[in-house]
Amino acid sequence: TRAQLFQSQKIEALGQLTGGIAHDFNNLLQGIIGSLEVVEMRLAAGRQDVDRFLGNAIDSAKRAATLTHRLLAFARRQPLAPKSVNLNDLVAQIAELLPATLGERITLKLDLAPALVPVLCDPNLLESAILNLSINARDAMPEGGCLTIRTGSVPPGEGPLRRPHSLRDAPTLLLQVSDTGAGMTPEVRARAFDPFFTTKPKGRGTGLGLSMIHGFVTQSRGAIELESEPGHGTTVSIYLPSGERRSMRTLEGRSTVTRWEP
Ligand code: ADP
Repeated sequence: TRAQLFQSQKIEALGQLTGGIAHDFNNLLQGIIGSLEVVEMRLAAGRQDVDRFLGNAIDSAKRAATLTHRLLAFARRQPLAPKSVNLNDLVAQIAELLPATLGERITLKLDLAPALVPVLCDPNLLESAILNLSINARDAMPEGGCLTIRTGSVPPGEGPLRRPHSLRDAPTLLLQVSDTGAGMTPEVRARAFDPFFTTKPKGRGTGLGLSMIHGFVTQSRGAIELESEPGHGTTVSIYLPSGERRSMRTLEGRSTVTRWEP
């Protein structure tokens, strides 16, 4: 809905903003370096008339600082607000919007496990993650195909290869987005989570989608895994801790039962 649209527009805007800022920032740095080089040369030649160039360098450095502040202010506008979220309800809501985004050649399948315990995470960011993964899946299936969104609970002992403590101690839920698209080569797969890494044409990809999702999942004390092979499609698995904790080991090694009531 409006929030989701806003979210994906925001990611796009962030990409444009960071791209633009990096460019302007680089220009200012070039100016600072140039001015300081003149100062260095003049001083080496015994000249004292360097005020103007030092002034220029300071001026450019201040403008560069303003630029990074702008970027940080934009990035900080969104603190995480974790809540108890019903995964299936959230997926069902997004599924209403998706056909318009996916187009007619892509079939959307939902495979939702019944009676799931709620997850603990920021619903707006989770929504935006699902939307971004679906857009990536769409882009990987230009000839059409199938997008599957699956939810489930993960039995103890199963789940991600690297399981953070938060998932060992709480029931774990799974959200999986799979496509039957082009898949990734090992080189692309290795860099897919890097900020600004994109294989999409200029103006289409920001390279920020997966890196932002990775950041959000890690901050939510979950884990994310990517399976992909050229010609065999891609599956992204997101593991999130439930809002209800089974037990929590304290630093002293005692076992206490704790409930998270957001
Ligand atoms: P963007 O979509 O803007 O390129 P992402 O961080 O979301 O940025 O993705 C980075 C890169 O990972 C993509 O450019 C693409 O090469 C690859 N990728 C992501 N999702 C998929 C997918 N479902 N199928 C194939 N490749 C993918």
